[in-house]
Amino acid sequence: MASSEMYHSTPLLFRYIWNEVVFLLTKTTIMESNQVCQSCGYPMKKDKQGGGTEKDGSISKKYCSMCYANGSFLTPSTIDTAEKMQMFCIDQMKKSGINGIFAWLATRAIPRLERWR
Ligand SMILES: [Zn+2]
Repeated sequence: MASSEMYHSTPLLFRYIWNEVVFLLTKTTIMESNQVCQSCGYPMKKDKQGGGTEKDGSISKKYCSMCYANGSFLTPSTIDTAEKMQMFCIDQMKKSGINGIFAWLATRAIPRLERWR
């Protein structure tokens, strides 16, 4: 009986540890460089346009060119929570051929970004 109990509780424990590892990893990444888009978490350095644009045409230091242009967000207005944004980003990444697990990992930091706080 004890062994079957252990078998059934392992995936939960694994998930818990995994979540903690991911949390610590994303936390240090954000603290080391706050140069990530505050909407989707994309590294600003990798943004070919250097960031989104404000109404006056200047480059935004907060948001990337995929999220932000002319002073407003490009994401659909229905996306108003971090959870919806995560689903949206995973969907977009999968469409562009990115591995689902990587897409999931890459969106873990979204709830801690400025736009969703
Ligand atoms: Zn972005």
